[in-house]
Amino acid sequence: MERDSGLVKKGWEGALAVIGGLGALVLDTAFPPVCLACSDAVATPDGLCPVCWGQLVPISAPLCPVLGLPFATDMGEGAVSVQAIANPPPFDRARSAVAYTDLARKLVSTMKYSDRPEGALFCARMMAAAGHELLGPDAVLVPIPLHRARQFERRYNQSAELARAIARLAKCGVDNDLIVRHRRTIQQVGLKAAQRARNVEGAFRADLKRLDRLDGRRVVLIDDVLTTGATVSAAAKVLKRAGVARVDVLSFARVVFDADMTV
Ligand SMILES: [Zn+2]
Repeated sequence: MERDSGLVKKGWEGALAVIGGLGALVLDTAFPPVCLACSDAVATPDGLCPVCWGQLVPISAPLCPVLGLPFATDMGEGAVSVQAIANPPPFDRARSAVAYTDLARKLVSTMKYSDRPEGALFCARMMAAAGHELLGPDAVLVPIPLHRARQFERRYNQSAELARAIARLAKCGVDNDLIVRHRRTIQQVGLKAAQRARNVEGAFRADLKRLDRLDGRRVVLIDDVLTTGATVSAAAKVLKRAGVARVDVLSFARVVFDADMTV
């Protein structure tokens, strides 16, 4: 009897699976998967077509171990970029998946302004690979928060979505509220480096109760794009002042100066 009901259950589960499969098939036919950047047809729903894929500029070794900017030639183990020596950042290490090209900008805006959550998963996969040295069970991912008013307008913080997806891939903790953006800042677009730094100076504060719960774990700040690094630097300064020993930064894209994308 028990075996029979098991069989009946299996039969139903099988039928449901078939129906589910048919549903996916019908959906795929009605809404065939398209490239995240150009909307051409692709085989899987969370990827790029070969043409767009070819336009991504991954940032890979050899890199400055501090700023994560690519070196034109291998400078030898531990060699730090001139920029990191001249102007040491308040964070320990930064890594980014790709250079901020037109294609990266399209992907970021897909994530920010459209209802395509698979865009965040695609970017998160690339970030988890680029930032593998920063991730692990001793790391807590902290997305750069939006001010409450902006979050309300947009209903979505793309950095929080990225952090959530990376945490699942790399098995890290996430804390969305460790830092709070308590002062609304103007959009950074179009501001020069010094103006950007002034704009975000004092914009963040750390939640002291949540800091206690860190228990010595490292913080990895998560952002979609690094331009001058002013925003992540302001957030890192607040955390360091509050006593966090190690603060790293992981972004999807970053502005890499120089025509050949190297420093
Ligand atoms: Zn495409």
